[in-house]
Amino acid sequence: MAKKSGWSGSVSEALRWRPGGLVQDIDTSGKPGFDGDKAAGEALLAERGERLSQLQELLYANGRAGDHRSVLLVLQGMDTAGKGGIVRHVIGMVDPQGVKTASFGKPTEEELAHDFLWRIHQQTPKGGQIGVFDRSHYEDVLVVRVHDLVPQSVWEPRYGIINSFEEDLAASGVTVVKAAMFVSLDEQKKRLQERLDRPDKYWKYNPADIDERGYWPKYQEAYQAMLDRTSVDGAPWHVIPADRKWFSRLAITELLIEALEGLGLDWPPADFDVEHEKARLADA
Ligand code: ATP
Repeated sequence: MAKKSGWSGSVSEALRWRPGGLVQDIDTSGKPGFDGDKAAGEALLAERGERLSQLQELLYANGRAGDHRSVLLVLQGMDTAGKGGIVRHVIGMVDPQGVKTASFGKPTEEELAHDFLWRIHQQTPKGGQIGVFDRSHYEDVLVVRVHDLVPQSVWEPRYGIINSFEEDLAASGVTVVKAAMFVSLDEQKKRLQERLDRPDKYWKYNPADIDERGYWPKYQEAYQAMLDRTSVDGAPWHVIPADRKWFSRLAITELLIEALEGLGLDWPPADFDVEHEKARLADA
């Protein structure tokens, strides 16, 4: 197994949201728990990607053998925080056959006609899969709260509903790994500027992202409430400083590795007589 060099201990511990913390105090360019630089981080990412890939194969193999357990990575973050980069550069290191990715944009009319978890239920991972939510049910207490898309009497109970939903997921064998990615307002400006300067990035540019910057304080308030009210023992939030992409990718890779290692997986035993099959093959 590759050594987890550079980290001082459990990454989940180092990044876990601490009750009493303030969103405005998050150091978006920090690298809590990691003492290496960018070059060390990038080298380690490649190495740890192999470990992640091995563990994903183990999970998948167990799923094929009837194990109902799965892992669900929930990614939240402001525009340009790098959610897409996590899907591409972290999840991209494992076999796509075992991955179920879902992104949640503005709800369709059909989705709006159902309760807010309806579209989410349909995308939860099956046994053996790694699920990834690029945005999630948390949009319903973030953008929805910030823009008053429904009255407070509707969004307020959602924190409790989400906690119960995630408890049900845990009870059904889904390990939920929640990562809230935080960029600074300045770093977001740089990334938006890059999208305007580079034709290969125009496709990522959305003029509405500029308007959203005007709501930054309201988003901070909504993120604060989300972390305070939905970071629970079975499904804690992890705060991912995201001004440095190499760090956020490395950190989330390690969170996934820790979650998968926590399942204590081993290769499933053969459901056939190995010696008998070897003898048959020798004669075939
Ligand atoms: P991204 O900004 O994630 O890269 P994008 O700009 O391509 O994605 P989409 O993925 O189509 O856009 O949609 C994301 C947008 O949908 C975000 O502005 C997000 O706040 C919004 N959204 C997601 N869920 C909801 C919801 N439940 N209600 C209203 N808006 C939502």
